Amino acid sequence: MFPVRPFAHPDKKSPLACGEVALDALAKKFGTPLYVYSADHIRYRSGLFTEAFAGQPHLVCYAVKANSALAILKLLAAEGAGFDIVSGGELERVLAVDKAAAARVVFSGVGKTAPEIDLALRSGILLFNVESEGELELLAERAAKLRKRARIALRVNPDVFAETHPYISTGLREHKFGIDIKRARTVYKRAAQQKWIAPAGISVHIGSQIRSAEPFGAATDRVAKLLLQLRKDGLPIQFLDAGGGLGIEYHAAQAFNPEEKVRQYAAALRDAVSRIEGLTLLLEPGRFLVAQAGALVTRVLFVKKNGEKTFVITDAGMNDLIRPTLYQAHHEIVPVTATKSRRKLVADVVGPVCETGDFFARDRELDAVKPGDLVAILDAGAYGMSLASNYNTRGRAAEVLVEGKRARLIRRRETVADLLATEVL
Ligand SMILES: *Cc1c(COP(=O)(O)O)cnc(C)c1O
Repeated sequence: MFPVRPFAHPDKKSPLACGEVALDALAKKFGTPLYVYSADHIRYRSGLFTEAFAGQPHLVCYAVKANSALAILKLLAAEGAGFDIVSGGELERVLAVDKAAAARVVFSGVGKTAPEIDLALRSGILLFNVESEGELELLAERAAKLRKRARIALRVNPDVFAETHPYISTGLREHKFGIDIKRARTVYKRAAQQKWIAPAGISVHIGSQIRSAEPFGAATDRVAKLLLQLRKDGLPIQFLDAGGGLGIEYHAAQAFNPEEKVRQYAAALRDAVSRIEGLTLLLEPGRFLVAQAGALVTRVLFVKKNGEKTFVITDAGMNDLIRPTLYQAHHEIVPVTATKSRRKLVADVVGPVCETGDFFARDRELDAVKPGDLVAILDAGAYGMSLASNYNTRGRAAEVLVEGKRARLIRRRETVADLLATEVL
């Protein structure tokens, strides 16, 4: 069995490593802040889905927004994965990596524009996940104009509650996502009347970082019932897109077994669809595949005391990893140097950005660190770099992909010249 994370100390005298590659050497070579990912771990996570869904026709469509690095898309495409995209830009990324993978792309998102729709139609994507009646109208118009048939699924809102952070819960009627499940049959009938629209699927996505399998089962059950109804209405619905959202444990103290997680998730979904013939399940995991495969390596600049409080100031900031401040997310923070017995320290770990919200941890007990030390912020492979910004005119971090003994730069550090290049004086 693989460990939950690919980051560990090979022994007490050695620095933290990603697989076989020491992180201090990577920091020296590529600088900090630095995102480091394990290719082997991403392949392992993707394989868990293949195993758990064996015997059930399915396609894993990796959610590109979790981490859209081309090298990661390429390795997943080579595993046979499809892609869940939410913009034309993400489609361009998939096309840049593997043109043939367009046939395995599903296009989600509440605000698709005509140019994005046109690109997707011309690329021959697998499925449009339509999120409103207005979008359906626009898609029908563009498809007719381009004389390209669009396979569609309606993304229905199942009104299922899932325990997660309110910003990443999407499956309730009060959220902007999807079409009310009660209205869906009417909208499907209207879609079926459009010459260039082919209703082919039904889709649902209830949110992100959901750790229990139960709400996935409940939502899939609801859409499975609708699917059977639609078939009775005469629509050849083949795809059930169960969305993404399978969560991980960010706290090291919390027991977590990825293999068991995927098995429970698969069991809940298979339970809901087992009686339906001729069905292909689409799965859209993002975080689960890449979060724990990645870490953000950063150097301590200063350790500062303000009265009672201690601040560990790192060269990474909220522009590099916004999850703690955006979602009150927890990330384990560990020193990169060897694990000799260490003093402890209680501190806020903060970045250099001019915002009080620029923190990675608050009042956290850490192994004592001093200026110049390297620390790794764990489980940063998903929604880390993909949410990074240039706030404070900070170039985005470099990214490294580790495969066995090899590490290679997959994105160079952004320079200030890169940032100024688009501006006009
Ligand atoms: C964000 C998103 C996903 C991926 O969610 P994860 O929590 O990363 O698995 C899948 N499908 C849709 C439609 C999404 O918006």
